Amino acid sequence: MSKPETQSMERPPIVVIMGHVDHGKSTLLDFIRKSNIVAGEAGGITQHVAAYEVEREKDGQMKRITFMDTPGHAAFSAIRARGANVADIAVLVVAADDGVKAQTIEALQQIRDAKIPFIVAINKIDKPNADINRTQASLMDKEVFLEKLGGDVPWAAISAKNGTGVDELLDLILVLAELSEFKSDPDAPATGYVIEAHRDQKRGVAATMIITQGTLKIGMAVLVDRAVSPVRIMENHLGHAIKTATFSTPVQLVGFDDLPNVGESFTTFKNKRDAEAARPEVAAKVAIAHTEEHDGQFTLPVIIRADATGSLEAIAHELLKVGDEYKRVSLVQSGIGTVSENDVKVAMSGKVPGVVLGFNVSIDANAQEYARQQGVRVEFFDIIYKLTEKLQEILDATAPKRAVEEILGKAKVLKLFSARKDECVVGGRVEEGQISKSAPIRVMRRGVEIGKGKIKNIQTNKQDVNRVDAVAEFGTQITCDFPIVAGDILESVITTMQ
Ligand code: GDP
Repeated sequence: MSKPETQSMERPPIVVIMGHVDHGKSTLLDFIRKSNIVAGEAGGITQHVAAYEVEREKDGQMKRITFMDTPGHAAFSAIRARGANVADIAVLVVAADDGVKAQTIEALQQIRDAKIPFIVAINKIDKPNADINRTQASLMDKEVFLEKLGGDVPWAAISAKNGTGVDELLDLILVLAELSEFKSDPDAPATGYVIEAHRDQKRGVAATMIITQGTLKIGMAVLVDRAVSPVRIMENHLGHAIKTATFSTPVQLVGFDDLPNVGESFTTFKNKRDAEAARPEVAAKVAIAHTEEHDGQFTLPVIIRADATGSLEAIAHELLKVGDEYKRVSLVQSGIGTVSENDVKVAMSGKVPGVVLGFNVSIDANAQEYARQQGVRVEFFDIIYKLTEKLQEILDATAPKRAVEEILGKAKVLKLFSARKDECVVGGRVEEGQISKSAPIRVMRRGVEIGKGKIKNIQTNKQDVNRVDAVAEFGTQITCDFPIVAGDILESVITTMQ
């Protein structure tokens, strides 16, 4: 008997909440989590994973919605940066007392690039200075045409603080999900994305993953780039052990043999042995070649984590200006999201120790501890020019010192009084600058250096002096192992290390 057609079932939508800082993303996520947590699980509000599921009734049926929680926004960007989508629907939060702002526009661009449908949540309508009309107008300016206002982008006016309009927003999400017909096959091997990963002191490496296709069961194994984990300890968003998980469900798996990167996709295998066999041969290591010196140039490896693609691009551009012909920085790894242990590892992997820079992001506790142990420098910034200034400072301090010569002055040899094997006594005239007794002398003949000497004694008008300025005449005794002749140029040279 032939296998029935691949089953395609309705799949709950995975939602990401985006928008400008302080417009209320976290408050909205908190409100939804607290008021709609999956029935029967109430009380277990403690957040265990970077995503959660809620249930809501629609047309007499219970429907599920998965929200990517903080750092969901960062995870969304990290996955986007790898050219894939985890979220099906975006909610763009815009505060009614502030309107469209820089990060609203950036979020809008990411949503448009991802080609996913979105809903606008005009938030903070409880505030006395909330102005829904003006907020709508600021959205129109960015070509976001709202429903009932001549466009087709669904929207809700809400207060994430007191909950007004949040149910309506959830309903809009369910309607949009129904229209979009998200489907998945429960019998397929589970695939999806890592949205958070960390090293737990006691339990080992854990990762939160969102399943977008198929079913994950105890006994199977997953592979993320080169990291393998058996599906042995699998927990839902409340930290409860579960035996199976299917699409749109966020799960935490414990037991990876390496720290997976956020944003990476995972695949599932029947067992650990199969997963290990499928592990790619070569680690997805950073091209260390970048960090090698060429043409004597010193290169400082730099790893950057930023909050958004826009800031990352701006920083990468600014990095080109750091350094000079002798030293430069090389961006060996960059990405969106929290500074991870992997970043610290990469910083340690080259010949020259690298630095890890975070821009508007934090560091996970294990990465911090790891960096401390390994002595890897990690710095944080919220202003780009401060980042480049600091980087220049670090580069100056790290690059090997170079001897830089400065010519204090030049004198012409007018007469050779005496020459011995290792000493000449000559008379001359300072032509420019000064000849200093303490500085080494470089002897030039027809523009070519013939050797270096040291002033033992220098006199003007038969008086010992420490220096002679242009255009005075002098007599000097120079220690040197070559003969100086009339016509040679003596250069008084000091060398500094820079
Ligand atoms: P995020 O940066 O977008 O995650 O913003 P937050 O959720 O941290 O909110 C920023 C500030 O706005 C906090 O002080 C919230 O209490 C406040 N806030 C968020 N939503 C509302 C709202 O609907 N009404 C009012 N009055 N304040 C809100």
